[in-house]
Amino acid sequence: AKEEGRGCFRLFSPVIERRSFERLVLETGLRGALERNELVLHYQPKRRIATGDISGIEALVRWRHPALGLVSPARFVPLAEETGLIVPIGRWVLATACAQAVAWQNQGLAPLRVAVNLSPRQFADESLLADIEAALAQSGLRPDLLELEITETVVVENFERTLPLLTALRERGVHLAIDDFGTGYSSMALVKQFPVDTIKIDSSFIRDVLDNPDDAAIAEAILALGKALDVAIVAEGVETEAQEAFLRARGCDQIQGYLFSRPLPADEIAAFVASYELS
Ligand code: C2E
Ligand code: CA
Ligand code: CA
Ligand code: CA
Repeated sequence: AKEEGRGCFRLFSPVIERRSFERLVLETGLRGALERNELVLHYQPKRRIATGDISGIEALVRWRHPALGLVSPARFVPLAEETGLIVPIGRWVLATACAQAVAWQNQGLAPLRVAVNLSPRQFADESLLADIEAALAQSGLRPDLLELEITETVVVENFERTLPLLTALRERGVHLAIDDFGTGYSSMALVKQFPVDTIKIDSSFIRDVLDNPDDAAIAEAILALGKALDVAIVAEGVETEAQEAFLRARGCDQIQGYLFSRPLPADEIAAFVASYELS
């Protein structure tokens, strides 16, 4: 079974039955979750290996379900994509993350780039560019302090439509990252054509990077690609010092994972960043 946070939803019944019941409960509840203020963002920092400074913070959505507790996005984001609810949810995530980044600055923290995950479904929606512009305008966040995390599939599936959109965003100064790199229909050519600042090595390659030569070879190939194309590489899911040492030795720029910090609520991450900056 997948590891889940405290209070995550679990039912001990046969798999099929559980799936459909869970789906029903979640789908019914998700429709009103935004209006009922049940969604919340947690934030996870990334650290530059060479300098030790914090290179940015990723916003990760959670659902505070009245009966089920804190529901992981792995549970409800796929459902939100299928139903289209990811469009209003994603709009809320963008607005909230941008406003939070400005609020941290107003509290006296150094400006931090905030990263927001975008799902494929949001790219199919006409309002995406307007939503991003609105989030920036309403918060007053500098565009270069916003980073959008996109999977390879998003770009590949609708390249003709997506490329001009992403180019326009990059010209605005917004940063772009390819998330979960290596797990989708990736191609080297894609990275060349696509105006990207950062590539995130998927955690599935990092987990066993020390023991599994295939994973190590993939991680090394992605790091070499980053060097060749001058794209920053972030390794995600870094949990141990040994993994960090492996990545450091191979020139990885940044790490993200439980080793540095778990995703935390906004106030806790502000305290973490403030004490880290002092140390
Ligand atoms: P992701 O974007 O690849 O995010 C990384 C996931 O790995 C997060 O799970 C994070 O909590 C977890 N993680 C971070 N460090 C470690 C580590 O050291 N070890 C392990 N085992 N896990 C680590 P989370 O928060 O449950 O999010 C799951 C996925 O849900 C995300 O994967 C992303 O695809 C999606 N998601 C989250 N928030 C949003 C959102 O606002 N919008 C959209 N469209 N998708 C989101
Ligand atoms: Ca991500
Ligand atoms: Ca990822
Ligand atoms: Ca992922």
